[in-house]
Amino acid sequence: MNALPPSSGCASELALKERPSERAPVLRERGQREVFCGLTGIIWLHRKMQDAFFLVVGSRTCAHLLQSAAGVMIFAEPRFATAIMEERDLAGMVDAQEELDRVVGKLLQRRPDINTLFLVGSCPSEVIKLDLAKAAERLGAKHAGDVRILNYSGSGIETTFTQGEDACLASLVPEMPAGDSDGAKELLIVGSLPDIVEDQFLRLFKQLGIERVGMLPARNACDLPAVGPQTRYLLAQPFLSDTAMALENRGAQRLDALFPFGAEGTTAWLRAAATEFGIDEMHFNSVVAGPRKRAKRAIEHSREMLGGKRISFLPDSQLEVPLARFLTQELGMEPVEIGTPYLHRTHLARELELLPETARLSEGQHVDKQLDRVREDRPDLTVCGLGLANPLEAEGFATKWAIELVFSPIHGFEQAGDLAELFARPLRRRDVLRV
Ligand code: SF4
Repeated sequence: MNALPPSSGCASELALKERPSERAPVLRERGQREVFCGLTGIIWLHRKMQDAFFLVVGSRTCAHLLQSAAGVMIFAEPRFATAIMEERDLAGMVDAQEELDRVVGKLLQRRPDINTLFLVGSCPSEVIKLDLAKAAERLGAKHAGDVRILNYSGSGIETTFTQGEDACLASLVPEMPAGDSDGAKELLIVGSLPDIVEDQFLRLFKQLGIERVGMLPARNACDLPAVGPQTRYLLAQPFLSDTAMALENRGAQRLDALFPFGAEGTTAWLRAAATEFGIDEMHFNSVVAGPRKRAKRAIEHSREMLGGKRISFLPDSQLEVPLARFLTQELGMEPVEIGTPYLHRTHLARELELLPETARLSEGQHVDKQLDRVREDRPDLTVCGLGLANPLEAEGFATKWAIELVFSPIHGFEQAGDLAELFARPLRRRDVLRV
């Protein structure tokens, strides 16, 4: 679902801002956007948190977005739904809070397995200023002891789709128990990862000798890890700025690292934890050597196809900067433009340092101008949203859907080859079609 631009976005503005390295200016743009909204995150979050339920308070459009993105679930009771706001709700003819109480009561009666219920705001609920924080507080008190009720916004008015996860995780942080401020340091991995990737990382941390590792989100939303001044956290995703701020407000400290994409990114990410937890360098190398070698070998397979090719990213998932670093550093690609909806200069500082000076960085969105630049640059591969891929393909550009990178397991050593292959495949397909 395409989000409406904020009102001020109609008049596009463009400004130049210094990159942290001060090597090149960052293009800042504001205008029409072509991205999914934050509700999209429910698709991977409901799979991750198996005792949580996501109740979107929205319109039929929101329900359609979720249903088409998630597919039809016929094997299990779904763990998300939309409380559809009708015209009379929007016109203020009924008390929407009362209606919501009724819907939540009915849902909890029918689904006693729900431990955490997220009330998720949407464009319509925000437009009529339905106060879901108040609703969550009231309903939480009413159902206390049975279910935890939280709220966040997945609306497309101000977000890009990965911000839905950020808002959801940030809503969990105040619920995390307090860590022992005098106890041993604990590691917290922040960001939703497929179970298989999470298990691989937990195994590696265990082999390294880091035993106390928590995950946010946990597989069961009710098993929230503790947080406090002894918490050191590693971001697994680059789009979690609100969650990071909430964790720091509880005393946690971020470990500065590359994001765990590819052999180099994953090594640097693990190394940041190993250094903080005093792991011996030789032991670190002995644990990491095998999987790192496998990752390098797996990546090599795509190098022939990707090396020397030019790539542009349109702003979409917020994964653009670390992925551009991976493709540049590990596969020899040449980034032409790296567009990202938000550029978190602190969280991305290490990634930015490794990008070539020639890469054009842009922050924010103005789809027409960005498309014009793609036409002018003529990259070999353009990473963009679903809605832009077909028109660009029709103009002769090879494209990669950005959202596929969020739905696929791409983190860590064992997924490095698949990640490279995700970029190589559209180019290979193009070569086949040309023959
Ligand atoms: S939240 Fe807004 S952008 Fe998202 S599906 Fe609903 S109406 Fe569309």
